[in-house]
Amino acid sequence: MNAGGTYEVIIVGGGPAGLTAGLYCKRAALETVLIEKGLLGGQIAISKDVENYPGVEGITGFDLSERLVRHARAFGLKIVQEEVTEIRTGIDFHSVRLASGDLLIARALILSVGGTVRKLGVPGEAEYLGSGVSYCATCDGFFFRDLTVAVVGGGDTAVEEALYLSKLTKKVYLIHRRDSLRASRILQNRLVSEPKIEIVWNTVIREILGDGKKVRAVTLEDVRTGEGRELSADGVFIFIGYSPNSHLIPPEVRVNEQGFVITDDRCATSVPGIFAAGDIRQKFANQIVVAAADGCVAALAAAHYVEVQRA
Ligand SMILES: Cc1cc2nc3c(=O)[nH]c(=O)nc-3n(C[C@H](O)[C@H](O)[C@H](O)COP(=O)(O)OP(=O)(O)OC[C@H]3O[C@@H](n4cnc5c(N)ncnc54)[C@H](O)[C@@H]3O)c2cc1C
Repeated sequence: MNAGGTYEVIIVGGGPAGLTAGLYCKRAALETVLIEKGLLGGQIAISKDVENYPGVEGITGFDLSERLVRHARAFGLKIVQEEVTEIRTGIDFHSVRLASGDLLIARALILSVGGTVRKLGVPGEAEYLGSGVSYCATCDGFFFRDLTVAVVGGGDTAVEEALYLSKLTKKVYLIHRRDSLRASRILQNRLVSEPKIEIVWNTVIREILGDGKKVRAVTLEDVRTGEGRELSADGVFIFIGYSPNSHLIPPEVRVNEQGFVITDDRCATSVPGIFAAGDIRQKFANQIVVAAADGCVAALAAAHYVEVQRA
């Protein structure tokens, strides 16, 4: 499909933020196109169960993605499945280049390119994703009530999530490859006073083991001695980093030191006509409901911006 041309709004990224933005843009009668390079639905398309999207008591990530896509298409959203390779800012119009070479221009852009969790890269990690392996305690902790879990990492996120999991589970092992944590002092103090958490120092996970259906243990290695052992665990929560997909973000758009886009409460960036929504935006919680809410705000703000420009 030749997607090139002029639009009122271009949305880059078809996760919950982008799809919600698309729905709201179409309801505001804006000429809109959404570009997605991979699976529509974004990160949730690969998540097994979603139990915390309000009004939907339990659904697979794949089914929720399909519903979001169907809903946006029902309002006539044009979706192009291609990679955006370049975004350029302009004065009245901004431009987006696709891998095919097509050039699209629009008065407003909504950047909803999300982020990527850093993986351990060990055997069993991909196989048991959603069946014991998780990158989100808020999303999946509830499935491990009264069970034993291993948490991997040593920064603030790993410690916060270990503390969160200790309220739900029977036992938490915090596996860290060094002999000290990077997390803030206050979090470390809370960690050591939590009896359900045991820190396993100087240790890495070499393999995640399962019974073919779900996780049952991890193979550990002491990085000082090279000694290996097996540790029983029903779940493995990995918090070794989350990066924004920020390589496309034009240099004129302000980002924080991690690369997350800084916006105001209308999801407006430092460049007029460019909005950011969802996980790419600097904010407190990365959840589907927050991404969808951002998509709504960004679309309403973009609609207002386009209307003012047209006048
Ligand atoms: C395994 C897992 C399970 C999760 N479970 C839950 C849960 O149960 N509940 C919950 O609330 N949250 C959950 N989350 C978090 C939730 O998925 C995210 O907060 C949410 O998906 C963010 O939505 P988004 O639209 O901002 O970004 P994303 O979902 O990351 O979507 C961004 C999209 O942009 C596309 N994109 C990126 N670059 C380009 C480009 N150059 N060209 C075109 N397209 C591009 C990507 O392919 C992607 O589809 C989970 C996350 C993971 C990883």
